[in-house]
Parts: sequence; C-alpha cells; structure tokens
Amino acid sequence: MTVIDETDDVLPDSQTAKVFYSKYEPKEVLGRGVSSTVRRCVDKETGTEYAVKIIDISEADHGSDIKESTHREVEVLRMVQGHPYVIELHDVFESATHIFLVFELLRQGELFDYLTTVVTLSEKKTKHIMKQLFEALLHVHDKSVVHRDVKPENILLDDNLDIKLTDFGFARILRPGEELYDLVGTPGYLAPELLRANMIETAPGYRFEVDTWACGVVMYTLLVGCPPFWHRKQMVMLRNIMEGKFTFGSPEWDDVTDAPKDLISRLLTVDPARRITVREALQHPFFHRVTARERPFSGRRMFKLAINSVRAAVRIQRLKYTPEALSVSVAIMDPYRIKALRKVIDACAFRVYGHWVKKAEGQNRAMLFENLPKTDLRRAAPVLVTS
Ligand code: ADP
Ligand code: MG
Repeated sequence: MTVIDETDDVLPDSQTAKVFYSKYEPKEVLGRGVSSTVRRCVDKETGTEYAVKIIDISEADHGSDIKESTHREVEVLRMVQGHPYVIELHDVFESATHIFLVFELLRQGELFDYLTTVVTLSEKKTKHIMKQLFEALLHVHDKSVVHRDVKPENILLDDNLDIKLTDFGFARILRPGEELYDLVGTPGYLAPELLRANMIETAPGYRFEVDTWACGVVMYTLLVGCPPFWHRKQMVMLRNIMEGKFTFGSPEWDDVTDAPKDLISRLLTVDPARRITVREALQHPFFHRVTARERPFSGRRMFKLAINSVRAAVRIQRLKYTPEALSVSVAIMDPYRIKALRKVIDACAFRVYGHWVKKAEGQNRAMLFENLPKTDLRRAAPVLVTS
C-alpha cells in the first residue's frame, strides 16, 4: 500500500497526461460528477476497454482542495483493492491540470439507472445485490475505511447484475477509536448520528455504522422504488431520519415478506450501537431462509399445506371458467391498490418521466410515487460541509 503524504505535489506512481493520451483513447461520457467526468476509454495496444474518471484540478478557488481530496480517494482506493465487489483501479495519471483515474469498465452502469428502468426489484434480486453490497462493505470496513456515500448511483453493475462499489471520494480511513463529525454524504442517505454529530455540540461523532444505515435506505428503495425518508421539505426529511420515522406503507409493502422488512428495520435503527452490523446482516434470515428440510416436523403445518394444495388444485382446475373478477368500480376508485394495475401505472410513469428522475435539477425518484401535485421541490444532492 502506498501512503500519500498530503504535502506531496504529485501522486506516487503517477505519470503525465501525455502518457495517458498516448496509451488510451478516450470515448463517450459515462457519467459526470461535481468536478469530474467519467468516459469510456480504450487501451490502444490491447483494445481493452476501461472507464476513466478525469478530475479537473485547475480551478482557481478549489483546485488544490480537489487535488488533495483526489489524492485521498486514490489512497483509499489502493487500500480496498482486491475484492470482487469493489471497483478495480487500474491506472493513475496526473498533470498540472487534471488527474486521470482508470477503472475497470462496468457496462451496465449505475444501479440507480437500472432501478429507474425496472421501477422495483424482486426480493430475489434485492437479496443478490444486498448480499454483495454487505460483502463489499465488510471488506472496506476491515481495511478501516468508511465509505460515507453508499447509494445506488455509486453501485455499478456488470452483465450478471453483480455489483462493484465505487466512488470513494467521500471515504475516510478511521484510526482506532477515532470519531468523525463532518457533514458528508447525500441527504436521503445520511445516518441520524451523522446529523446529530453535526447539529448538536455535545453529541458524539460517528463511525462505520453510517454505511450500514445507508444500506437500509438502499434496500428499502430497491424493494418498492421510493426511499424511506423522502419529504419535499428537506428539514422535515432530516427530522424524520433523526427520529427513524419511516413506514412499510400499504399497498406497496403488502406483497413483501417479513424477512426483508425485519432486516431493513434493523439497519434503520437510530442508535448506531443497537444497529445491526454488516457481519450480522450477512447472517440475517433474509439471506439464509430456513428450507423446509431443515425445519422440525409439524403436523399442523403439514395439514395446512395439504389443505392449501387441494384448494390450489381446485382453483387451477376452475380457473378458465371463473377468472378472478376485477371490479371496475374498485379499479376506478383506487387503481393503485390493485397490484397488476399498480405495476402498469408505475412502469408508465417511469417510462415517461424516468429520464427526469436524475437528470433535471430539483427532481427525485420519490416524487414519481407522490399522488398530489407539489411545487417547492429540491434535489437530494451530495453535501460536503466540513465542520
Ligand atoms: P463522482 O465522485 O463525480 O460522483 P463517480 O466515481 O461516482 O464520480 O462516477 C460518476 C459516474 O460515472 C458514476 O455514477 C457512473 O455513472 C459512471 N462511472 C464511474 N465509474 C464507472 C465505471 N467504472 N464503469 C462505468 N461507469 C462508471
Ligand atoms: Mg458518485
């Protein structure tokens, strides 16, 4: 591992921009951040494709801050390399005006965009993604790194829907016992202890548990499409976060089983000392459902199973004669309550407005789930305010 002396002017192992352009051919833009642009690029010699994050450090006011924070990002990235669910940093180049971070390319892009196209994820897919996210965080935390910006925009997907945790721009290395106080992250994902550490003078600082909280927000959002703490007035949203006020509302949660709800409740526990840890989360029944074979014999359950099987057989037999009636009056009064119609309505809304969820300033995914027209809207942009 290379530890960077922050007074150093250039990154160790870095080469000049000229070398970058002689080695790689930059292509189309894949994503943009506050002071960075990510492009696909091709290694001219091997033809291998990568993603390059080009960071502008020439800005008169903030250039040196950005440079310093990018050096820190590279230091962290180097510490967490070597895990299947953490982004691989392939190369680093630095010139007087730009830093180039060459990463492995994730063709399917962000989990955020995937969610926008599918609206919600099944429990099975949520399990697949969350398990990998917890495994990535277990590795990252084992290296004493707290990510501080876990959200679907910073989780990239490959063709098999396997994830790579990325964007260590807000990450910090924590010394034993060290607590953090700065307000860093994205509003909807901020943990209550992070807000308290920043707002209340006597409050203790925060540590790795802020990432576990963010996992709860991500998991909630994957299952029903909208986040747990959304409110168009940001102050109300922050207060709800600090009080851990969220619900498994009807009808969107009606079809979700108890195990994921239980895990979300344990992740979104206000007191970080009582919050489930990443290691414990991986042991949660959501990931280890007891199979029928492992359960002790129960006569009552067997009887219930037999009755239900007979009922199901009879229902299937009669299905073509007696299709389930869908009352037009119910559908007119409250179409959103009917699962089949709800899926169609949500899918239509995302088809029409999906592009607008992220691209336009001031919009948020949660608004697509709101039924009443609102006017004073605010985008949940990342915040970086150092106390
Ligand atoms: P920022 O700190 O500016 O948010 P990120 O590292 O999160 O920068 O990158 C911004 C966006 O660029 C990502 O959200 C994603 O859409 C895209 N991106 C970043 N790295 C890759 C990659 N390795 N493969 C594909 N797309 C990527
Ligand atoms: Mg990002």
